[in-house]
Amino acid sequence: MLQDNFARKFNYVRISLTERCNFKCQYCLPNGYKSCGNENYLNQNELFNLITVLVELGVWKIRFTGGEPTLRRDLSNILHMVKGFTSVKVIGLTTNAYHLSANLDSYIQNGLTNINISMDSLNPERFHSITQVNRLTEIQKSIDYALQTELQSIKINSVLTKDTLSEIDDFFAYVKIRNISVRFIELMQTGDNLKYFKSNYVSASILQQLLIERGWQKQPRQDAAGPAFEYYHKDYIGKIGVIAPYGKDFCNNCNRLRFTSDGSLRLCLFGEQNYSLRHLMQSSEQREELKNTILQLIIKKPLAHKLSEFKTGNILNLSNVGG
Ligand code: SAM
Ligand code: SF4
Repeated sequence: MLQDNFARKFNYVRISLTERCNFKCQYCLPNGYKSCGNENYLNQNELFNLITVLVELGVWKIRFTGGEPTLRRDLSNILHMVKGFTSVKVIGLTTNAYHLSANLDSYIQNGLTNINISMDSLNPERFHSITQVNRLTEIQKSIDYALQTELQSIKINSVLTKDTLSEIDDFFAYVKIRNISVRFIELMQTGDNLKYFKSNYVSASILQQLLIERGWQKQPRQDAAGPAFEYYHKDYIGKIGVIAPYGKDFCNNCNRLRFTSDGSLRLCLFGEQNYSLRHLMQSSEQREELKNTILQLIIKKPLAHKLSEFKTGNILNLSNVGG
């Protein structure tokens, strides 16, 4: 069992499969992904050794992220490998959906159960100005297709900015007829996005207030839930979620650990340190040592991030640590 010094239990791990991305979201990679020239991401053998150990430690929810995880050509094989662990109940993916129309069926056949798709705007021009990609219609078609599949959960991630509030009625209309949760994520400051952050940040409390005024009700938080508070409304099929990392007590319920695409453990998204464990993922004989090392490191997990003091840790952007 993975537990830290503050009695928080960890059954949920996010694994980044690549730092690469084909979008230039202005809050994440404003200048696009720049290759360092010697990318060498965790391979399937390393992932298998890591996941074997995580499963032995009680992890039953794994989410693949990035960068853009669908850029990994072996993603279906990786999903298939995880499907072999019968105690893993949730195999999730966070994606910008660019490659989804071609590959979603394969991902599902190979074990994908949950998908989070990023869609920051319902307005094609605004979507383009945020992501620098002109692809909103195709992404919306992929979302509607996903809704017809047997996926257990389909959610939309949308970064909350001042402009989001001006299209909030369109988002409400979107979930009125779709059984989907649109989760607004408070914009987080990173090393790369200070200018964007300063002009676009708005507190999630403004949105929460607006939801209450419009008759949305907060749902009690479920065990092993992600970081969102979800709101429901009797007139809407879908839900609205709010992820408020700047909110008071956000870290109290943290149940997540992260591994970067080069095999480092990140105890906190906004922490100061990556603990490189890749050398312990090379063979099955190293699994005991990998397990013990993770157990020793977990007690170093800090109680909370220091975002409200404008301390972002050593994070340059969410693409390089796995958002
Ligand atoms: N490329 C995939 C995607 O965009 O869904 C997965 C990786 S991305 C880093 C994961 C999530 O982090 C996305 O929903 C994205 O909107 C969010 N994100 C990235 N940078 C952020 C920031 N500075 N503040 C808030 N959310 C951010
Ligand atoms: Fe790429 Fe996702 Fe970052 Fe956008 S948020 S630049 S899609 S990694």
